[in-house]
Amino acid sequence: MLDVSELSKQDMANQKEALLLNPDVQTMIQRMVDQGVYSIGSKLEKAGIVYPVLQELFPKKSEKEIKIFLDELTKADILRSKLLDKVIICPTCGSPSVYSKYNCPRCSSFDIGKKIIIEHIRCGFIGSGDKFQNGEMMICPKCKNIVTDNDYRKIGTSFECNSCGTRFEAPRMSHKCNSCEDVFTYKEAKYESLFEYELTEDTKRAVARGTLPLASIISTLKENGFDVGSRRDLLGKSGATHTFDIVARKGSALVVANFAFEPKEEDIIGLFAKKYDIDPTFTLLIALSPPTKDEETVSKAYGVKIISATGSLSIGSQIVELVDSLAKPEPKAEELSNKGTNSDKDALPESELKPKEGARKSETKDEDYSELDEAFESNRSRRHDWDSEGF
Ligand SMILES: [Zn+2]
Ligand SMILES: [Zn+2]
Ligand SMILES: [Zn+2]
Repeated sequence: MLDVSELSKQDMANQKEALLLNPDVQTMIQRMVDQGVYSIGSKLEKAGIVYPVLQELFPKKSEKEIKIFLDELTKADILRSKLLDKVIICPTCGSPSVYSKYNCPRCSSFDIGKKIIIEHIRCGFIGSGDKFQNGEMMICPKCKNIVTDNDYRKIGTSFECNSCGTRFEAPRMSHKCNSCEDVFTYKEAKYESLFEYELTEDTKRAVARGTLPLASIISTLKENGFDVGSRRDLLGKSGATHTFDIVARKGSALVVANFAFEPKEEDIIGLFAKKYDIDPTFTLLIALSPPTKDEETVSKAYGVKIISATGSLSIGSQIVELVDSLAKPEPKAEELSNKGTNSDKDALPESELKPKEGARKSETKDEDYSELDEAFESNRSRRHDWDSEGF
């Protein structure tokens, strides 16, 4: 039996997994990994506190939505926030572009002057500095002697209001907004935290291992009637055993999948060797980042399908669709099952590389595939955008 605290721990773990599979989160993490910068800094702009990296990645999100996104990830322990500073925010328009002013405590005028108070040591007279000033020289207003550098001391400062003449020791402070020109005091001001966010060590490790995304994929497959296990060994025709990150069966279909942060050619070739020995229905490489054109060509040649997160379908759901499409008794069934076994053809990569654009186009007429291809396409171009820009 689980007690409540364990349940909520489980809930948190589930939430974390779901979030790690969220395409926006993956886009963000991918960007961090690509750049090797694991923090998200903030900047003060006239309009408010902004997070330039996320603004660039998600141009459609408002600053408010970005803040909610960051808060959610911090709550789920994917990001850690670090307090950098506290800033005064205009209560009217939310701008942090605010400057401070001193005011007369009596009449509130901003026309006040700061005075240095001087004591003439020889005669003991105390007065404001401007009373001593006489052209280039300082002359004591009381004893009329020239005051030399060693003959006086500064004993403090005071303020004087040029409007009402009041003298006071400390002015009242007010703030003026550069954006909407509203004037407000500390009582009305908003005082907000300026954070920097970074991936928690836990998240970095989990993402690198692929364990968190895998858990969520496995649960989706189970919900859809798959018999599924992780890190399973399968015995091949050669007598060798091969380990896969995911082994799933549904009906007569056998799916084997490995996880990679980025779909590298050696991962694809490694999977091809195992596939050759095991002869599964689908051999998948689950990748957090979409494949490049080259990687996709290689994967097609070796009959290893790369599945990465798209905006519309989770990785788990994509696998479910792929396998379910085999079972559909529709006119397309033959075409589809050809595709299924196509990946099992012991074709040499060389000959498979040959089918050029024409062959590829007829293939993409298949709805399920073209949808995925489109998603890959758009993801890829996004990725290329990042490549060409710096942080
Ligand atoms: Zn004097
Ligand atoms: Zn005054
Ligand atoms: Zn304002």
